[in-house]
Amino acid sequence: MVLDEQRRPLRDAEVPDPRPGEGQVLVRVHSCGVCRTDLHVVDGDLADPRLPLVPGHQIVGTVVERGQGAERFQTGDRVGIPWLGWTCGECRYCRSGRENLCERALFTGYQLDGGYAELAAADERYAFGLPGGYDDLQAAPLLCAGLIGYRSLRLCGDAERLGLYGFGASAHIICQVAVHEGREVYAITRPGDESGQAFARELGAIWAGAADEVPDALDAAIVFAPAGEIVPAALRVLAPGGTVVCAGIHMTDIPSFSYELLWGERTVRSVANLTRRDGEEFLELAPRAGLRTRVTEYPLADANRALDDLRAGRVRGAAVLTTSAEAQAHG
Ligand SMILES: [Zn+2]
Ligand SMILES: [Zn+2]
Repeated sequence: MVLDEQRRPLRDAEVPDPRPGEGQVLVRVHSCGVCRTDLHVVDGDLADPRLPLVPGHQIVGTVVERGQGAERFQTGDRVGIPWLGWTCGECRYCRSGRENLCERALFTGYQLDGGYAELAAADERYAFGLPGGYDDLQAAPLLCAGLIGYRSLRLCGDAERLGLYGFGASAHIICQVAVHEGREVYAITRPGDESGQAFARELGAIWAGAADEVPDALDAAIVFAPAGEIVPAALRVLAPGGTVVCAGIHMTDIPSFSYELLWGERTVRSVANLTRRDGEEFLELAPRAGLRTRVTEYPLADANRALDDLRAGRVRGAAVLTTSAEAQAHG
């Protein structure tokens, strides 16, 4: 499924098979998660994607061929390919353990062709081995929704009361991590989204409701919804010393707010991308914490419908595309 131009639907196209370059693996794609970032790429919120582009950066598949020098994985190994597709290894960020901020980083499904396809090629150094216990559909959302959520949660420190603004793919996973760590989760949804609130409670949230109803002061909040007005709203219920983490790659403008809301050593910060270390830590934690993902499956050819559903807030849990002949059944 190819993006020819932003703000246009993807096109179901026959393209030449990708070839694995030096240090790359060629992967037969079984499933690919649909992320809000894909929407931002398609809708033009993110500038200058490679065009034409195969989107998708939560790829689960098996290695079918290895390029020259690639020896980390064997043919037949199941791997995950995430958003971080390549870094320079030389800039000051790469050299200080912050490759997520690399000045020359290339991202899967943005500057590199991604997983809305039957085949994808990727630098093996940025791919992950995947834990057992997750079928191909359930594993896909771990690769960005889970991973970026995990990085966001780490930046919340040891916050006891955690607010999650927007209970989509990422929040439904990270809620489970937070509960596993003994935190109290407050799920903030659109007003009146009773099924979303019930879903959050089912996953262990002690409270779920709308932003203006939060009953207690929160020690940290993660904002997954791309709406800037949530930031001052979250600060309004944040305890002194607390942090608001903006987890999305794009957000509408944040309205101005009184300094009083920030006073008391409150912090507002963003999370950008991931490091390979985040991925390794999270994928090791996922089975240990008993994380389950709730997925809605779409055939690859229905990628536009999946994006529409995500844009309209109709997806419960995570949307995942599947090349149906290849994906393992739900297990
Ligand atoms: Zn770099
Ligand atoms: Zn993503």
